[in-house]
Amino acid sequence: MSQEPRTVMVTGASGYIAGWIIKYLLEAGHTVHGTVRNPDKASSVAHLHRMAEQAPGSLKLFKADLLDADSFDAPMKGCEVLMHTASPFVLDGFSDANEALVRPAVEGTRNVLNAANRCETLKRVVLTSSVAAVYSDGTDMKGKSAFTETDWNTGSSVDHNPYQYSKVAAEREAWKIHDGQSRWDLITINPGMVYGPSLTNASSSASIGTLLDMGRGKLKTGVPDLVYGAVDVRDVAQAHLLGAFNPDAEGRYLLVSESVSMLDIARLLRKQFGSQYPFPKMKVPKPVVWLFGPMMGPVTRKFISRNVGYPIRFDNSRSKVLGIQYRSVSDTLKDHFEQVLEDGLVRRRTA
Ligand code: NAP
Repeated sequence: MSQEPRTVMVTGASGYIAGWIIKYLLEAGHTVHGTVRNPDKASSVAHLHRMAEQAPGSLKLFKADLLDADSFDAPMKGCEVLMHTASPFVLDGFSDANEALVRPAVEGTRNVLNAANRCETLKRVVLTSSVAAVYSDGTDMKGKSAFTETDWNTGSSVDHNPYQYSKVAAEREAWKIHDGQSRWDLITINPGMVYGPSLTNASSSASIGTLLDMGRGKLKTGVPDLVYGAVDVRDVAQAHLLGAFNPDAEGRYLLVSESVSMLDIARLLRKQFGSQYPFPKMKVPKPVVWLFGPMMGPVTRKFISRNVGYPIRFDNSRSKVLGIQYRSVSDTLKDHFEQVLEDGLVRRRTA
């Protein structure tokens, strides 16, 4: 990776993943132009200023909103690289999925990349996409041994898996705008479910939800047989830097360390933290999940039918060629749950 200092714009600088990206950029001596909706909100940005004080790089924060088409021109001025991480990552608590998820993701990507088209210095864009742009449901694995970068999510819609739909629609929009010009190239980083310690406790990323539910006993009676591709937030951030500065990088990169079921997560946590915590010990039978799941959380029967009991696998070989050396999910969960205890989000229990 080039050590030459560059000016790099990072959208959604206050976010969980962006925090680690900015830390690594500052440590490598780069100049970061971060965008946030509210640069005066100390609880969201204080950690970024602290990191900048302790690192050789420098940081400037700008106010920008995904739905404000003109707000990205000023922060992009003089940047060579753009990392577009901002996008709503919420799975519940909204009534209109289009307004909460799809419109900000797609229109936001369009606004940010139209600004990229107006910025003469910009050479490369790294988009934080997701495995959600690669598949919709576990049933999409039919006939495959693993998902690869050639797969696209064709099963989601605003009514079925709207978050997944927001990600695939935003990534498709990004490739469309990329194909209409020739100055900048596009790399997408497509992570699975991201775990690992956060540099901010102000992020509303949905990533922490499962750990809180497990630690607080919400899932004590059992978990559905759901499998995720899991990856460490620090590895995801490193992939953004490799995607930005490795001249050979091109196209999409799936970022998944291992596929783990919810029960695997519980087992790994129990092994590290002990049985005094109410981590689940068994799977809930699919018919019971189908019957009661929609009353317990933001899942539909269609999601349950198409995902519970379907193992999924990802081929991460392209990301290894890019230079990623994955942390184990066990270490990632240990570091993340330790932070959850440290922050008092789950009460520490002694054996
Ligand atoms: P996060 O902490 O919630 O960060 C999302 C960021 O997007 C926040 O900084 C938020 O800014 C910004 N944002 C949301 N709506 C916005 C709007 N209308 N205008 C401007 N900024 C807006 O979540 P994260 O986990 O770091 O997610 C970052 C990216 O990674 C997202 O694109 C997400 O889809 C993707 N991703 C996440 C995971 C995961 O498991 N965490 C997995 C795959 C992909 P504010 O501070 O202003 O709210």
